[in-house]
Amino acid sequence: MNRHRRDFLALGAAGVVGLSGRAFADPQEPDLIVHNARVHTVDNALPKAQSFAVRAGRFVAVGSNDIKSLAGKKTQITDAKGMMVVPGFIDTHNHCGAGGFGLDKAGGAGLLYDVMAGNPYEVERVSIASIVAKLKAKAATLPPGIWVMGYFLDDTKLSDKRSLNVHDLDKVSADHPVAVVHRGGHTFFVNSKAFRMAGVTKATPDPYGGTFDKDEKGELNGRITDRAGSMVFKAAKQEQFTPAQQEKRRLEGVAFISAKFAQYGLTSVHHNENGTLEAIQEQRLRGKLKHRVSYEVNDVLLEAMIKTGIASGFGDEWVRLGATWEHTADGSLSERTMAMRAPYIGMPASYHGNITESQDDLNKWCERVHRAHIQLNCHANGDVAIDRVLTAYERALKLYPRANARPKITHCSLINAGLIKRMKALDVVPALFSTYPYYNSDKFHFYGQEAMEHMIAFRTMLDAGIKASAGSDFGPGPFSPLMGLQAMVTRTGWNGETWGASQKITLDEAIRVSTLNGAYNSREESDKGTITAGKLADFVMLAEDLHAVEPSKIKDVKIVRTVVGGKTMYQA
Ligand SMILES: [Zn+2]
Repeated sequence: MNRHRRDFLALGAAGVVGLSGRAFADPQEPDLIVHNARVHTVDNALPKAQSFAVRAGRFVAVGSNDIKSLAGKKTQITDAKGMMVVPGFIDTHNHCGAGGFGLDKAGGAGLLYDVMAGNPYEVERVSIASIVAKLKAKAATLPPGIWVMGYFLDDTKLSDKRSLNVHDLDKVSADHPVAVVHRGGHTFFVNSKAFRMAGVTKATPDPYGGTFDKDEKGELNGRITDRAGSMVFKAAKQEQFTPAQQEKRRLEGVAFISAKFAQYGLTSVHHNENGTLEAIQEQRLRGKLKHRVSYEVNDVLLEAMIKTGIASGFGDEWVRLGATWEHTADGSLSERTMAMRAPYIGMPASYHGNITESQDDLNKWCERVHRAHIQLNCHANGDVAIDRVLTAYERALKLYPRANARPKITHCSLINAGLIKRMKALDVVPALFSTYPYYNSDKFHFYGQEAMEHMIAFRTMLDAGIKASAGSDFGPGPFSPLMGLQAMVTRTGWNGETWGASQKITLDEAIRVSTLNGAYNSREESDKGTITAGKLADFVMLAEDLHAVEPSKIKDVKIVRTVVGGKTMYQA
């Protein structure tokens, strides 16, 4: 319903008579017209335009500058002065900064209130001394025995050029368990007190799907991986908050991260986090939600949906239930724990990463979720894990055929020809790392050039007709969509290294990946992803035409304005 009609109906219900023409503008009058723009529509029917009109939150006309003639008295007119306008960017995998440590960290609260052991948004080198100092300050505010936590560590962005270890963290406190969480979320660095509280010694065997790492003398070095983390974390309590504090953290966190998304040009984000749905809805009512949410479901919410028959897609154009949360099948790329057939360079030949679930359990989970009309989504990085996930998807879709099931694979990093064929056959929608080739280029020597030619394989997937999308995985990866475009186009990192150059895609392809393919990923392509009459008016104005700047400078182009549903959510 458009705004004017709604106003009219509201007044009509109040019994107002004698309507003057003055109070009611032409119901066809646009709310907003942008003209003199280089509009990159991502719509094949009309790839380039100069102008568009918006009414009631949707594009109503796209074309030449003649559109300006549709303006009425109340139409706001923006002269873009030749600036590039693109559809709003869509991030198909984002944890919103939650470290996986429960509600108190969710929805941006962690970013606002917790110790940051690295820069969440940009490449920045930090010193171990600065991390220790921040943690020490935090420890001073907490009673003994309570976890002192740091987040967003990146082991390859330390200016000391060595790993954080147990001895560094022993300097923080002898009375508190201390942990620093890698931004990848699969590895942790802890102090001696934490090991003592958990009863872990150098003789403790590695649990299934995890490790307690040792130094060259065979002593615990403080690094623990994947499932070893949960063993240690349950040994002590996390910082406690009152219900009022929790609510404040959650609400302010949501507002904080939503504003950040708008600042970087994101208009839709797939939230892979728990427990923030209520805060998101509250902030929507308060007008502080600046992006659209595809809320990926897990835990009690997933169970409730299965029990009550609520399917993916439930909700509206602002807040909608999406696919499931990434159901984990293996470890991580950035932390070298993904399940690969080939051995890791420089590691024992027997180490092939961590598989985190049996094939049988994976099959059962996929069958149950898919049967309930909920869009499947598994996290799989390595070729071994992707193979297992596809096996479970093939089985589930065969048991319960569904139109447009579009099972999602989060990351889907290391592929081969056989996997691509199977993905295409199922119309799998992958959410590939977007910013990694720029941000994590300092980690790719662990895989080597040969493997990198098959990793984060945008070129191969687009050529095969697979609708790959951009999933930042924030925290692990920064979410800046322009950094993502630069990474896809150049495959060159912040340190100047280029990895897997055969997977480069063109700028126009990268924009499509980051817009329309993102909409396809959540089955919302009829509403989002292109600048097309009838679709939601989500767009971004850029200070420079991305086609005209050096590919190595794409990430630095200024976002001038981010608009969602015709409303300006960020302005530089
Ligand atoms: Zn993730």
